[in-house]
Amino acid sequence: MQAIGPRLVLASHNKGKLVEIAALLEPFGIEAVPASAFGLEEPVETEDTFAGNALLKARFAAEGAGLPALSDDSGICVDALDGAPGVYTADWAETPNGRDWLLAMTRVEEKLKALGPDVSRRAEFVCTLALVWPDGRSETFEGRMAGSLTWPPRGDRGFGYDPVFVPEGYSETFAEMDPAEKHAISHRAKAFAKLKAALGG
Ligand code: IMP
Repeated sequence: MQAIGPRLVLASHNKGKLVEIAALLEPFGIEAVPASAFGLEEPVETEDTFAGNALLKARFAAEGAGLPALSDDSGICVDALDGAPGVYTADWAETPNGRDWLLAMTRVEEKLKALGPDVSRRAEFVCTLALVWPDGRSETFEGRMAGSLTWPPRGDRGFGYDPVFVPEGYSETFAEMDPAEKHAISHRAKAFAKLKAALGG
């Protein structure tokens, strides 16, 4: 794969993702500059797959900044809800006053409850990273982390749906865990391991 350093643009406006991705890239000596530093807006996510939306965001940033761009499209897929909210994970948090994650988690929980007491609570976080070079070349890397949904939410670390997600083999939610522990096992970490392998490290 073509080299990407020493600077790339991070095609995201999500603070939680920016922090996690910058930390994951640091050991490679790659400086990750947020798209906002180039005055770039976030494009509308019109695709219906994680890879489609990740490529759309990275293409927009690579063209706008003239640098290689890395994007992350991610979400939570709940088995009993046929994979919803999936690529619409962030949309379930939308309110006229901005995103409300407690509301989004409550929406998921209400839909699960409506399916009865024996409903499967299995869910999976999915992360697709897309790397796009200014000449249009691209690569995508996907990571998944299985787990189950708990209620009520627990923990105040992490972001998004972290307080209701208990990864398989653990008893704490992602929001209760030490961030370093989450970063070692998460869907994003798994996608990064694939990116890292492609970078030769
Ligand atoms: P998008 O990729 O910008 O469409 O947003 C995906 C949404 O999925 C994020 O805004 C989060 O709410 C949620 N999400 C993705 N990864 C994580 C995670 O590691 N923890 C908690 N929520 C996540």
